[in-house]
Amino acid sequence: MPMYSYRCPSCGAVEDQFARVSERDQNIPDCHGPMTRQLSVALIGVQAEVCAKSPIDGTVLTSRRQRSEYMKRNGLQEAVPAAEVIRKGAQRKAQIQADAKALPKLPAHLEKQLLQEAGFPG
Ligand SMILES: [Zn+2]
Repeated sequence: MPMYSYRCPSCGAVEDQFARVSERDQNIPDCHGPMTRQLSVALIGVQAEVCAKSPIDGTVLTSRRQRSEYMKRNGLQEAVPAAEVIRKGAQRKAQIQADAKALPKLPAHLEKQLLQEAGFPG
């Protein structure tokens, strides 16, 4: 089950709590009113990844949009086009799901325990 951080917009107090993905916006902790859910660390990682300095002319790129416009202007291409990465990911997911369906079924309580131990929302 993933952990989410909530922040009080009035006083800045922070509270972490575990929640299922589907329930992350339910049971929001209160401080001076309902707290606001913060971006997950994983998302911040993706955004930080965009902060890059071009090896061509040193231009600093701080957003995906800037980066893609810069690449277009300079006739550059992604090493692997994003659409292909997404397509391959979807193929792999479908394959994993098909493989999982072909496996003998675990007793429900064991499956739940394994999923929770692997960090998937129960
Ligand atoms: Zn507060």
